[in-house]
Amino acid sequence: MYDYDLLVVGSANADLVVRVERRPAAGETVLGSDLVVHPGGKGANQAVAAARLGARTALLARVGDDGHGELLLRSQRAAGVDTTGVLAGGAPTGVALITVDPSGDNSIVVSPGANARLTPEDVRAASGLLGSSRVVSAQLEIPLETVVEVVRNLPSGTRFVLNPSPPRPLPAELLAACDPLIVNEHEARVIAGGKPDGSPEDRAAALLALGPRSVVVTLGAEGALVATGETMTRVPSVKVDAVDTTGAGDAFTAALAWRLGTGSSLPEAAAFAARVGAAAVTRPGAQESYPTAEEVGAL
Ligand code: ATP
Repeated sequence: MYDYDLLVVGSANADLVVRVERRPAAGETVLGSDLVVHPGGKGANQAVAAARLGARTALLARVGDDGHGELLLRSQRAAGVDTTGVLAGGAPTGVALITVDPSGDNSIVVSPGANARLTPEDVRAASGLLGSSRVVSAQLEIPLETVVEVVRNLPSGTRFVLNPSPPRPLPAELLAACDPLIVNEHEARVIAGGKPDGSPEDRAAALLALGPRSVVVTLGAEGALVATGETMTRVPSVKVDAVDTTGAGDAFTAALAWRLGTGSSLPEAAAFAARVGAAAVTRPGAQESYPTAEEVGAL
């Protein structure tokens, strides 16, 4: 009945990475390593993660009519993502300018570019995609009003999953549609208005009081916490040698969203997603690190 297991509505960025001995001070120039360009952005990452697991996945996003846009389209198609919903033009492709120092610390400047031009009209024009997707997931690297328009146009029976990153206070209308709202501890604190400082259970309870149908708090190497109105369940992580945690949250969200659509309960879907997140941290990079279902099974 559904053409897609998952429709991801979100950002697509080119990540431009240069290694430096130290960061330049104001007015200073430093030399860095050769430039490396990776496809990234939370929306693009989620779509690749789901498709690599075997989900029939589509992406609704906006890129520029430029080389970075082509790179992003190529990487989506190579993973098997349907890109008929990827619009081109209006502004340059979003980029993240990333410098990495010898200790591994990042400094990042994001230019949202075309991501900021993904409009509520674009969502309304994509009603065909929305209507043929079992689950829809979104993040906040596109305008908030565009994400709100997604939930306004959600067909009944289609499940909505939100990872509110980067975090900001959310309107009640958007919160009420989330099933689940997936946050790390920092995002939980921002969305719950800085409180409470207690346990993940306390944070989940504070978030549930804002109206989402369910909440998942990701806890890095500690796994995750699943909270509904009735129960709170800790989902353990898988012990792995972590090499690079970049994009683990995107892989977790995509895996969880897909599994919910296949009929898994929220704790089951989170347990599977924790295995996907664990597999993703064993390899460097974001999209490059995402596992196939076979690799998750072998973990
Ligand atoms: P990011 O913003 O870096 O993409 P995040 O902060 O949104 O990540 P995390 O909580 O770091 O999300 O990771 C998501 C999930 O991935 C965790 O809930 C956990 O299941 C898994 N994971 C992350 N780090 C590790 C680790 N070191 N070992 C095992 N599992 C991990």
